[in-house]
Amino acid sequence: MIKTSTTLLAVIGDPIVHSLSPLMQNWMINYFKINAAYVAFHVKSNQLEQCVNGVKAFNMGGLNVTAPHKEQILNFVDQKSREVELLHAANTLKNENGTITAFVTDPFGFIESLGKNQSRFAGANVLMFGAGGAAKSVAYALSQLGIDKLIITDIFEEKAVQLKELAKNAFKISRVETIKIKTNNLNDYITDSQILINATAVGMHPNAAKSVLDDYSAISKQHYIYDLIYNPGHTALMLNAQKKGATVQNGLDMLLFQGLQSLRIWMNEDYELKIPALNELKSIMKKELGIYE
Ligand code: NAP
Repeated sequence: MIKTSTTLLAVIGDPIVHSLSPLMQNWMINYFKINAAYVAFHVKSNQLEQCVNGVKAFNMGGLNVTAPHKEQILNFVDQKSREVELLHAANTLKNENGTITAFVTDPFGFIESLGKNQSRFAGANVLMFGAGGAAKSVAYALSQLGIDKLIITDIFEEKAVQLKELAKNAFKISRVETIKIKTNNLNDYITDSQILINATAVGMHPNAAKSVLDDYSAISKQHYIYDLIYNPGHTALMLNAQKKGATVQNGLDMLLFQGLQSLRIWMNEDYELKIPALNELKSIMKKELGIYE
């Protein structure tokens, strides 16, 4: 029930109408019996400063920040977490008595989503498709997981090179390489890798037939394929890799755990979602997305 003491939280973005965050956060708020409510606001880039002032004026608990504001929002915050300083992007703002601190929870969401597969990462060679915002968060997470080597490929070679520099110099991954997207020896790189990550939107609904790979002959049961896409639940990349015996995972758990991490930050509590609760929330989110598997 909403009371005068209820903490108001919100997600901002442009557009915002498709965001799953209100559904997901209000489910968790209800599950953990938190005195809070979570809404969505459509905020344009030229309104970000007013928006942050509004958070202070209304004494809101904080915000989630989504595309396209994750970088620009940093112009209006008072403090930044260590990860935000490294990534130059934020998806969570916390308001404490008018002081706004920026956090980024995507790398934590990625790591927590791995579950028992986390052990695959120490010493691994990782091939990542995409060098955008999501790839940056994943690269930071990979640095924390102790991988041995990161190979990055993006349609825009320059973006791959920029992420390589960041991964080497700021995240301290010692071995980072970039390769051309249609390189002839892509299969050699696949064979040399244990983990493949799709951090592009290739294969996302409604283009579910598309994949970053045309040729799956180098995929084997040694591979762990992580697709950040969560709609469809099984992308063409995942389905074809699964046929070759690979272990696959989609991005729904990452989405969920980055949201849980935001809630922990706002409320200063170490909430945990046990498997049955996790599965219940995932099935509600899949239903909202129209995914029936
Ligand atoms: P982004 O900033 O647009 O980055 C994607 C990058 O990949 C772009 O540079 C893109 O180039 C490039 N690319 C496109 N096709 C490629 C290909 N075949 N091979 C290699 N690179 C290619 O997008 P983003 O925000 O990082 O998001 C990427 C994906 O992750 C989206 O599907 C998003 O929904 C998902 N995501 C999931 C979560 C989660 O919690 N599960 C969180 C964040 C993002 P172009 O600009 O030319 O297309």
